[in-house]
Parts: sequence; C-alpha cells; structure tokens
Amino acid sequence: MKKYIKQFITPPLPYDYAALEPYIDQQTMKVHHDKHHVGYTIKLNAALEKHPDFFQYPAEVLLQKLEKIPTEVRTAVKNNGGGHVHHSFFWKIMTPAKQSDKPNQQLIKALDSAFGSFDKFKEMFENAATTLFGSGWTWLSVVNNKLIIEQTSNQDSPYSLGHRPILALDVWEHAYYLKYKNVRADYVKNFWDIINWNQVAENFATAK
Ligand code: MN
Repeated sequence: MKKYIKQFITPPLPYDYAALEPYIDQQTMKVHHDKHHVGYTIKLNAALEKHPDFFQYPAEVLLQKLEKIPTEVRTAVKNNGGGHVHHSFFWKIMTPAKQSDKPNQQLIKALDSAFGSFDKFKEMFENAATTLFGSGWTWLSVVNNKLIIEQTSNQDSPYSLGHRPILALDVWEHAYYLKYKNVRADYVKNFWDIINWNQVAENFATAK
C-alpha cells in the first residue's frame, strides 16, 4: 500500500517560467502553471475531501479506475484529476531549446515502424494537434506495445482508456493564446524545439 497523503500537490516547474522562451512565453507559463494547474489540483483535493481513502493512490490510478470513484465526485475527479495529471506530465516532457535533443535510437525505431519515419510522425502529430476541435490534448501513447497518436477532449485521459502516454501537447487556448492568439499551428510547430526527448525515452521504456 502506498503511503497515505492528505492531498495532491502541484509539482513545481522543473525550469524557470522563462526557460521555454521564445517558444512559450514566461507569462503563459506562469498563468498556466500557477493558476490553471494549481486550480485543477485544488479542485481535485476538494472533490476527494469526503473520500480521503483515494488519496493513497497516485492520481494516474484514479483516472485508470474512474468507475471506482463515487458517482457524485466522478466528473470532478475526471476533469480535475485529469488536469492535475496531464499538466504534471506536460511540464516534464519539455525543456529549454538548447537542451532539447533527438529521440534515442530505440524510440526512432519504434516511430519508424509505427508511422513510417520520424518526419511522418511529426506531420501526423501536428495534424492531430491542429485539427483537434475545441480544448484538449494530443498524445503519443503506447497501447499493446505499439505507438499511437491520439486526441482527447478537455481533460479526458489516455490513462482512462488503459493507454500509457509518453509525449503530450496541451492545445487548450490557455496554453498558447497570449503569444500565438488564434494561430495554434505555429505553437504546435514550435513544440518540436522544446521537447525533452530524454524524458520521452524514459516514459517509453517504462510504458512498454
Ligand atoms: Mn493546460
């Protein structure tokens, strides 16, 4: 059994607010982390206040087992648990541009086999991210040892489908609107310059 905790905590960014400039601006990172992410975590904790047994699980597990969550708080846990888990994941798979590298050989091989080539994968991922209607996320996930690109709306989670995400892009307007306004495609293109491929490779290794 996991150690009992009283609440979920918003992890700090693993870099400065301005570290992803010029691709993602400081102001966006500050509002995104300190307001949006913190808000999800607070609301997740509030939803589970009367059901404290659930604090013993990692938040991902709550999303994997939504059917076990009491019905009166299930939607709140889906939305705010999703928001908390997805943002915690998202901060870690980004890094300042100078530190961004390439996928390792193992990942390149898997991307080649799933999508034809790394460039083809990028094109398909960009397409999924730009065409997602409304708020949501685009993911690179492992399902039955295969890589897939998937879209989820709002804070619906690949974890709830039994999938294991290894890369994510937040395409809610709050993630890019201050800098990119309505041009989501430019935000999506610039994402490639700030991916922490070491972290993605680690996610891939543990997801398989
Ligand atoms: Mn967000």
